[in-house]
Amino acid sequence: MPEPHTITIPADLLPSDGRFGSGPSKFRPEAARALAERAVDYLGTSHRRAGVRRVVAELRAGIAELLGAPEGYEVVLGNGGATAFWDAASFGLIERRSHHLSLGEFSSKFVAVTAAAPHLDDPSVRTGDFGTCPPLEAVDGADAYCYPHNETSTGVQVPVRRPAGDDAAVVLVDATSAAGGLRFDPAACDAYYFAPQKALSSDGGLWIAVMSPAAVERIERLGASGRWTPAFLDLKLAVDNSRKDQTYNTPALATVFLTAQQVGWINGNGGLEWAASRSDRSAAILYGWAEASAIASPFVADPAVRSPVVGTIDFDDRVDADTISAVLRANGIVDTEGYRKLGRNQLRIGIFPAVDPADVEALTACLDHICERLIG
Ligand SMILES: *Cc1c(COP(=O)(O)O)cnc(C)c1O
Repeated sequence: MPEPHTITIPADLLPSDGRFGSGPSKFRPEAARALAERAVDYLGTSHRRAGVRRVVAELRAGIAELLGAPEGYEVVLGNGGATAFWDAASFGLIERRSHHLSLGEFSSKFVAVTAAAPHLDDPSVRTGDFGTCPPLEAVDGADAYCYPHNETSTGVQVPVRRPAGDDAAVVLVDATSAAGGLRFDPAACDAYYFAPQKALSSDGGLWIAVMSPAAVERIERLGASGRWTPAFLDLKLAVDNSRKDQTYNTPALATVFLTAQQVGWINGNGGLEWAASRSDRSAAILYGWAEASAIASPFVADPAVRSPVVGTIDFDDRVDADTISAVLRANGIVDTEGYRKLGRNQLRIGIFPAVDPADVEALTACLDHICERLIG
């Protein structure tokens, strides 16, 4: 078998952009260039003044448009990414007991947060095998339902909906690797929250949430209940500041700008339907290739829950997926490695809207080239 670094992929097979990571993901060079143009009048200026607040306002309005926020829903933002939002939700959105779907690394991390919170009852958890989506059912005593729209570690998408027969609870959907790439019914959840460095191909450090009136009411009620809450994680402070197009403490101005750029790019091209269709095309290419291949197959067996934004591809034992990733990396195609903790002979490919479907086509040609040489 040839050494990985001795396999050179012919230049005419290579994609125009070699970034296929699942987060941080490829962002468009145009967005970074637009930021550079604002290096002297936006970067390095006060986040409490009009110059920055206008960009925050543009971002909030753009998100509401992109995600089709229903009347009365609000776009709220704060610092610390989706991980900070889990902690904040454990104080400001979960009253006593949450119910979770746990189907991979990220959904299980939110379970760990609520299980450890001393002010909450033990969460109820419905666990699904990796690569599958457990059903969402109403649970007695649960006041918040929590699941990801897309489980980034396994490449499984979960339908956004409310549990039948429970209208009083709030539904919290982690959309970090979904927002702007997957279609959904925004009225079917109360907090659709995400960090912008995955599906929205921007940079990290921020969380953004589209919140229903019921979510804001819950935040206000828990805020007034006397429950001790660290100010940094206080969702009431986040709502109040967001209404003024600010964050409680200083945000990464570059992340705010880059996210607004990406949202503007999608809205200007036709919005969520356009973006989701682009990822659908990439997914059809990637999974179609795997299904036709003699050595590869989609990891997620049920096509209905197979993610159109994060593709997980298993390889049979004639080839080693880590070697394939190493060859790709040596040829400038990066971040195709599988999720470590899954422990499978697998590649994971980010096919968010920023990725050009033609580059996914090129990637499959590169995979054929490498596999032919590895098998000999
Ligand atoms: C990456 C990821 C997170 C964590 O995001 P951070 O910004 O690193 O906190 C949470 N949920 C999902 C689904 C993710 O993919």
